[in-house]
Amino acid sequence: MSRPKYVFVTGGVVSSLGKGIASSSIANLLECRGLRVTLQKLDPYLNVDPGTMSPFQHGEVFVTDDGAETDLDLGHYERFTHAVLTRAHNATSGSIYERILARERRGDYLGKTVQVIPHVTDAIREQIAKVSTEDIDVVLTEIGGTVGDIESLPFMEALRQVRQQVGRDGCVFVHVTLVPYIAAAGELKTKPTQHSVKELRALGIQPDILVCRTETGFSREIREKIASFCDVDREAVIAARDVDTVYQVPVEFAEQGVDDIVLDRLRLTAGPRSLGPWQDMLDRLRNPRDKVRIGVVGKYVDYEDSYKSLKEALLHGGLAQSLDVEIGWQEAESITRETCAGQLERYDGILVPGGFGIRGIDGMIEAVRYARVNDVPYFGICLGMQMMVIEFLRNVCGIREAHSAEFDPKSPHRAFLKLRELKGVEDLGGTMRVGAWPCRLTPGSFARSAYGREEISERHRHRYEFNRPEYEQVLTGHGMRITGETPEVDYVEICELPSHPWFLGCQFHPEFKSKPLDPQPLFREFVRASHQRRLRQGKALADIEADQFLRLFGARLQGAPG
Ligand code: GLN
Repeated sequence: MSRPKYVFVTGGVVSSLGKGIASSSIANLLECRGLRVTLQKLDPYLNVDPGTMSPFQHGEVFVTDDGAETDLDLGHYERFTHAVLTRAHNATSGSIYERILARERRGDYLGKTVQVIPHVTDAIREQIAKVSTEDIDVVLTEIGGTVGDIESLPFMEALRQVRQQVGRDGCVFVHVTLVPYIAAAGELKTKPTQHSVKELRALGIQPDILVCRTETGFSREIREKIASFCDVDREAVIAARDVDTVYQVPVEFAEQGVDDIVLDRLRLTAGPRSLGPWQDMLDRLRNPRDKVRIGVVGKYVDYEDSYKSLKEALLHGGLAQSLDVEIGWQEAESITRETCAGQLERYDGILVPGGFGIRGIDGMIEAVRYARVNDVPYFGICLGMQMMVIEFLRNVCGIREAHSAEFDPKSPHRAFLKLRELKGVEDLGGTMRVGAWPCRLTPGSFARSAYGREEISERHRHRYEFNRPEYEQVLTGHGMRITGETPEVDYVEICELPSHPWFLGCQFHPEFKSKPLDPQPLFREFVRASHQRRLRQGKALADIEADQFLRLFGARLQGAPG
């Protein structure tokens, strides 16, 4: 039985250095050489999972097919590779302790003292073993936080133990650090990196590769200095300079041979690197034929990480047709019927993304109305789909009090209800519908033509469902169409307005499955429709200008002396 090899990624100096992107880029390169990879994130914080953490503090909650609510780094992992991630690919101190404490309560430890070493470290190693399946050549495990954090100590110790167990050619340690430029001195400083490596070595870990974040790159001297003080080979000191797009990072790493170093240390042989499709994608990204402006009307717009996957999926949707997608983040709370046109008219398409809680709801409904009456392509995701249906029920079907039970539990017209309140639906236990569900598409719909097939699977994360028994008839009677539903329990998954150029809402989160090399179909088609509107508008503008010109010019001609 072959056992996978390991790449362990830690971080030093400060947070936010892009460990997730570094891990994803190494994994990407190993895949480009024909290896089968997977990635895992171990977070030292005590929350059991990021599901209940504020998007403002922690960014987006990424959802896997099997319904795990995970750290947003797993989104990078999936976008950069073909790895299929599950619940086992993200763990926190909280989830590890939860498991240990449950065992302790059951009496599984037979009266022994339960301790950080060996029990917590063993549980961390079990977590790594869970994803070390036979179909994988290399497992990349990233440790959240920064070396020196008290809460990450058990994780570092567990990695050290794994190295002891698998041997030196069984794993490589990659440490991501910062080489700051101090303007006053006009110098790049290597000391923070040295200190960080010293910290790591105090824990018994000698890094093999240093990924040094730097604004502009560094000289051979700096590289040599870092190599010598940190006891790392010169070619293993990688300059990770700031780049225009995260998708450039694998290319930067390839130029410095990061994959060769990893393969060499792990004594792995692999095929030549084939970066062709990736490079081609980058070329398209940098040479768009036109642009398109999308207004995202949401509630966490001040903190773009809350919409990480969404932002990427829009970009991919543009990439698919060489269009540059310019996103305008529009705070939903600031939108009113009166101000709406002024705030939204510059956009070619409008998107209302997912969200929880009542803040900004009225603004979203106004944005939907604006898009509907002005023929602006509209894409509603999860909460955005619910708002699209509510707007229609209120303003087209005349049910003024229509609402979701989430926002007005006493409304006489609750068009969205919690699962267990829906008649004839058995309570699924948990309060959320999360993870992948199959969905069947109606022929002749926007969705069906986007996906080009009848059955799809997309990921969910929500509590409320369309109250089909009570509101389907009135909705469809006024022209909205239900074009996607789950095959067995017939939950409503997609609604559309066929009389509109492109107006679609989906109860699931399609952004979680979009990749730069495999753009998600709904995003692609929404961007396409928005671009078509842009062209129509452009043409319309040109027509108006031509009209004015003729009028002016004609008047002159008429007035001209004979
Ligand atoms: N708050 C809504 C629900 O729970 C929508 C959730 C979401 O957009 N992810 O159903």
